[in-house]
Amino acid sequence: MSLHQISSFAAGSWIKPGSGARVVPSAITGEPFATAGSSDLDMQAMLDYARETGGPALRKMTFHQRARMLKALAQELSKHKQALYDLSFQTGATQKDHLIDIDGGIGTMFVFASKGRREMPDTQVYLDGEVERLSREGTFLGQHICSPLLGAAIHINAFNFPVWGMLEKLAPTLLAGVPAIVKPATNSCYVAELAVRIMLESGLLPAGALQLVSGGLGDMLNRLDCQDVVSFTGSAKTALELRQTHALIRNSVRFVAEQDSLNASILGPDAVAGTPEFDLFVKEVSREMTVKAGQKCTAIRRIIAPEVQVSALIEALTKRLARVTIGDPRIDDTQMGPLISGAQKADVMAKADLIATESEKVFGEPDAFELQGEGVSNGAFVPPMLFYCGVPDTATHVHETEAFGPVSTIMGYRDVDHAIALANRGGGSLVTSLITHDTNVAREVVIGAAAFNGRIYINDRTSMGESTGHGSPLPHMVHGGPGRAGGGEELGGVRAVKHYMQRTAIQGSPDMLTQIGQKWVPGATEIQKPHHPFTYKFSELCIGQTLHTEARTITLEDIEHFANFTGDTFYAHMDEAAAERNPFFPGRVAHGYLVLSFAAGLFVEPSEGPVLANYGLDGLRFLKPVSPGDAIKVRLTVKQKTPRNEDYGEVRWHVTVANQNDEAVAEYDLLTMCAD
Ligand code: NAP
Repeated sequence: MSLHQISSFAAGSWIKPGSGARVVPSAITGEPFATAGSSDLDMQAMLDYARETGGPALRKMTFHQRARMLKALAQELSKHKQALYDLSFQTGATQKDHLIDIDGGIGTMFVFASKGRREMPDTQVYLDGEVERLSREGTFLGQHICSPLLGAAIHINAFNFPVWGMLEKLAPTLLAGVPAIVKPATNSCYVAELAVRIMLESGLLPAGALQLVSGGLGDMLNRLDCQDVVSFTGSAKTALELRQTHALIRNSVRFVAEQDSLNASILGPDAVAGTPEFDLFVKEVSREMTVKAGQKCTAIRRIIAPEVQVSALIEALTKRLARVTIGDPRIDDTQMGPLISGAQKADVMAKADLIATESEKVFGEPDAFELQGEGVSNGAFVPPMLFYCGVPDTATHVHETEAFGPVSTIMGYRDVDHAIALANRGGGSLVTSLITHDTNVAREVVIGAAAFNGRIYINDRTSMGESTGHGSPLPHMVHGGPGRAGGGEELGGVRAVKHYMQRTAIQGSPDMLTQIGQKWVPGATEIQKPHHPFTYKFSELCIGQTLHTEARTITLEDIEHFANFTGDTFYAHMDEAAAERNPFFPGRVAHGYLVLSFAAGLFVEPSEGPVLANYGLDGLRFLKPVSPGDAIKVRLTVKQKTPRNEDYGEVRWHVTVANQNDEAVAEYDLLTMCAD
């Protein structure tokens, strides 16, 4: 059978593997399956193409346009899922593993598409936080902004998740407006290549936004400057080597590392055999050991249990692991496929031998386990291997050696502090899980271990029906971890997008900040138009468009009427002497809600028009009490416009309610949906 030739996509063309291409084996059979190599690539031309063609095209688009592009790309990938599944079996992945890698990757892209439209503006500048008042009169203000880096993002990915690993980096990069050059791990690059082909052939991406290196990166990293980013996922060893690239150090190039880690799972002291938590723990641990044949950066490597529970736990885990069917991942009931390659198997076995120097193997015989499937005897299969370490305080390998396969070690703890100390011996982890029904234990573990972890996953009988699993990084939550885990951070919603942007503190007048951020800042010019702003369609409204209302005097009768009508007869509105005793009020005062209601009565335009609905207030503050006899008036200004679809958009109005002395008594943002 002829081998698949895995191409690169460089400066607009597909380029076949050149001389010295590497042969990539099938994980299932061990036979050569594909070749990949990048010797014919011009790395400088690729960088130039990204920087000069891809970057400018992406930066012309707004965050919303990029988000819509991501959604369309995810839809396109969804249409071709079966082709990706079919190919991905060769990496050893089972159908369940595909759901994590392929469906999980596409799902991540959908989440970023949605967050881009909901949480980011329809402009090119992202405002990071609120305006800072830097002067007494408010004529000089500060605002942090994020804008896309002007270079390229180099994504170096690990072999275990060729689709998810690529898309979880690509989605925030493209959303930021930065072009990507993706370098998948060679062992599974054929799956990544197909996903890239699907995206490129869709025609949805501007030229230069996405390029692919199948094979080595050559000297690309030494050609990077401060506008480029390297986002690496892989082993701690490779990360250490790449971090030291001269150009990266010299030019302060951002280097985000997601590397291996010795993740732990702690069984709470309350979760004794017979509780729902004990059973849940057994299920989570055995699943994490066997999904992707344990080739998951988040897999549980260290099982930390109360000393008195260790025997029961070994018994329960052994029973469960013995039921795992191992073999050809294309067979429906195979639960665990092979490792990615024979070399990986040799590495796992060598690491397991190291762990065995300080632990006792309690399950898994690499030379004697059942394998299902025809012609797979040369595949990179290993059984799950469970160790027990009786000396976890003095042992080192169990805390430091990552056997990147279905290998895990149980160790006992005396009390919660001891459990925390053992978990932290990992030197920085992507995730630690805790299975307990005791909220005090949860708090203690979080306080003691959070600084050593990117994520802490707590599960019990309440959440187990809906929980997402110890090993699943979610696009909404940060993924990464300190120390051994690489010190990097990815995902976490919009946080991930910011990793591809520069944060800059902008200082200037309200007009300057308004124009830069496309968001009206108090003190900036107000725009007067001939008609009431509620009569303008979404696209006709302009930032800064303002209405000043007439004044309305609030009487004691109004206050009493409102109190009796709503039932809010709080003493500050009804009892003069009691109100006077309150340190905040001069005497009886109007209800805050009365002020809001009268404000709406002042600014509203009652006729049917483009305003479809009021859907909330943000940042409401009552700044000064309103006494009977005070006259309030309103300033209503278009602060920000966010399109929702072709028919309508969200208009954020800045509202200031002031009294007869021009003192602000209330301030808030009013949100309306406005038709176009
Ligand atoms: P690896 O051997 O460190 O390789 C990672 C990537 O680096 C691959 O794309 C590899 O390309 C590339 N690479 C290696 N040497 C390079 C060099 N000199 N210049 C440029 N690129 C280079 O890791 P792996 O075996 O693929 O993946 C398994 C490891 O990844 C495990 O340790 C696992 O814990 C970790 N991992 C971490 C995460 C996380 O999110 N923290 C996720 C998944 C996996 P080639 O394949 O072409 O050598």
